[in-house]
Amino acid sequence: MRVWIDQDLCTGDGLCVDHCPDVFVQLEDGIAYVAEAGQVLNDPGGSQSLAAVVPRHHHSVIQAAEVCPGECIFIEIDTPEVIAPGPDDDLHEVHAVSGDDSAAA
Ligand code: SF4
Repeated sequence: MRVWIDQDLCTGDGLCVDHCPDVFVQLEDGIAYVAEAGQVLNDPGGSQSLAAVVPRHHHSVIQAAEVCPGECIFIEIDTPEVIAPGPDDDLHEVHAVSGDDSAAA
């Protein structure tokens, strides 16, 4: 899970910090930013500053997003990596069977 805040919509009430101070931080400008491993990601902020959320904080981050009055906390769920077939994989090769065995005679 990763999370980011749209600072343009943040009201600065600090509810997110109350829910999860390890992930949400309010700076001197009164606006909330996300943090990862103790480092505030305020440059540039917004969707360019995604913080990875450790599993023990997933629940509180979701709760923060639910109560956020600015509706400006955005959560992205990491999806498992999908391994696409390579060019040498004949996974979809179709073998035609004509039933005409005259060539074998
Ligand atoms: S809860 Fe939402 S509006 Fe309030 S400080 Fe946090 S991000 Fe900003």
